[in-house]
Amino acid sequence: LNNIAVLTSGGDAPGMNAAVRAVVRTGIYHQLNVFGVMYGYRGILKNEIFPMESKSVANIIQRGGTILKTARCKEFYEYEGRKKAYENLKKHNIDGLIVIGGDGSFNGAQKFSQEFDIPCIGLPGTIDKDIAGTDSTIGFDTAVNTAIEAIDKIRDTADAHDRLFVIEVMGRDAGYIALHSGIATGAEHIMVPERKTELNDIIEELQANERRKKLVNLIVVAEGDETGGANEVARRIKESCPQLDTRVCILGHIQRGGSPSCTDRILASRMGYAAVDALLEGIHNVMIGIVNDKIHYTPLDKAVKAKQEIDPEWFKIVKILAS
Ligand code: ATP
Repeated sequence: LNNIAVLTSGGDAPGMNAAVRAVVRTGIYHQLNVFGVMYGYRGILKNEIFPMESKSVANIIQRGGTILKTARCKEFYEYEGRKKAYENLKKHNIDGLIVIGGDGSFNGAQKFSQEFDIPCIGLPGTIDKDIAGTDSTIGFDTAVNTAIEAIDKIRDTADAHDRLFVIEVMGRDAGYIALHSGIATGAEHIMVPERKTELNDIIEELQANERRKKLVNLIVVAEGDETGGANEVARRIKESCPQLDTRVCILGHIQRGGSPSCTDRILASRMGYAAVDALLEGIHNVMIGIVNDKIHYTPLDKAVKAKQEIDPEWFKIVKILAS
């Protein structure tokens, strides 16, 4: 192993920069030449591949986004595109590729590494925490912290006006951001795709709450919840409880930005270090995860979107603590 390349792909997540920094500096420590690729797979196809030094990653551990930029790339879905990517990597004699991204990016890496002789390592970078083979993903902790900071602020105004807020958080098909941010902010209800919520039950409860004058009501809804998101939930509540002052807040992209939390910086640093280590050890085509605080390898084709169950006890906790 002499020359390795690193890229970020798919949706950005806070902590990606810390991972890039760890890859570059660990590579250099082991006397490898490290190349950065701009804009994910698109950058390989466009030959936006450049050598990185230790100082290329100075002053980025605390920055959100990704200095390598990210993109989606249609051509990489096709064999011809991946062949061109291979040829460009070979121009720089690259013999190892580290991909920081989500499961789509790992699918691409898996195909690529099967077709061509470039070993690939994946690092899970997504705020959604929806990938099998790791207890958390780079960006999740920061996104949840951003969400709770915002929800705490909404709670202040909800309290001042005795309003009910329906707050939508990100997570796509996964409810972890909703579950964690909802518990941490004391939400009365948390609606997630992993578990069907009977909105009518919530409405009945809200009517009962009103009789006993419960003042602050927060409902946290995951964007992927099958009820249809915060606007739809609020619409139905307003229909049945017109006397309640019901408002909607969709947190949106603020959840993807900002300085990564301590947890994400450490996760990203460990994972970036482990990725180079794996390549040096001859471990190929795996995603690096951390399970029970230990580095854990998952074959890239198994590092898919995790349709995990959420233990029903969590919802019991939510109910008891908010009553
Ligand atoms: P996120 O979950 O944050 O969106 P992701 O990595 O899942 O990240 P995708 O848009 O699914 O995001 O994938 C990123 C890129 O990876 C795609 O634009 C494409 O270039 C490549 N890719 C994804 N899936 C495949 C596939 N099945 N075959 C080849 N390449 C793929």
